Amino acid sequence: MRARLKALLLLSALLPAPAAWAQTAPAAKAPGLLSVLFGQAPGSLNGPTRGPSRSIGSPANGCLAGGRALPASGPGWQVLRPGRDRYWGNQALVDFLRDKAGAVQANGLGTLLVADMAQPRGGPMPSDHGSHQTGVDVDILYRLARAPLTPEERDHPDLTGVVRPDGSLDPQRWGQDQERLLRLFASDPRVDRIFVNPQIKRVLCRWARGDRAWLRRIRPWWGHMEHFHVRLQCPVGDMDCRSGPLPPPGDGCGGELQSWIDSGAWKGRPSGGHAFKRPPPLACHAILGRK
Ligand SMILES: [Zn+2]
Repeated sequence: MRARLKALLLLSALLPAPAAWAQTAPAAKAPGLLSVLFGQAPGSLNGPTRGPSRSIGSPANGCLAGGRALPASGPGWQVLRPGRDRYWGNQALVDFLRDKAGAVQANGLGTLLVADMAQPRGGPMPSDHGSHQTGVDVDILYRLARAPLTPEERDHPDLTGVVRPDGSLDPQRWGQDQERLLRLFASDPRVDRIFVNPQIKRVLCRWARGDRAWLRRIRPWWGHMEHFHVRLQCPVGDMDCRSGPLPPPGDGCGGELQSWIDSGAWKGRPSGGHAFKRPPPLACHAILGRK
């Protein structure tokens, strides 16, 4: 198996994507075979690798060794669409989510609805994301559950956005609970940044009183109308993990945010990834062939 996989990896550098894959993938860019293997690793290579958690590379070009699963539900959280097998992360991310779900519950905010984290071995996903490759990213709905979701609601969740076409936030879907939720996450020093729609950042900037330091971690980005995306800093001691530059100093409520709003860019959609845009770190080749 190992030799065969090595041969496949070598081929992946030379060949275009297999035709069958290209037909089913919604992405315009045909993913390389290496990317396919992360999303559809066969048989015994389907789960995480053994050993300690390691995030390798950067969130948009990397992979995950020793992935840990967030259980489908626990005190204060529920995983959406568990059939997608995207509830994996670095141990640090799983610990973080357990903490935060407990705090959400303790603050009377209800239950966190956790969407995509990473695949068992990270890497690019066949749909939806340009990042989420190293097990330090997680998507969470702004909507908080007041009662446990039924399996039907969990597998086909309501993903209606909170931002209305005129840029205002829908008062049926956005209120104090959401503002407190975002502040709770963004105040945690383990967080590197949180992506939200620019219209949401605008509202948070207006709402925040007193300490505004947490707003620095809230970054305006395309999409993110029904969920926010939390990225953790590289876990301590994770030498192969790469993070981006720090967000600019200050609360980020000034000119940059205003230009997202004024230009109409806030309405844009993020572009998905679906394949490595450049070769991932060599260590990522190795984890595909390992148990
Ligand atoms: Zn995300």
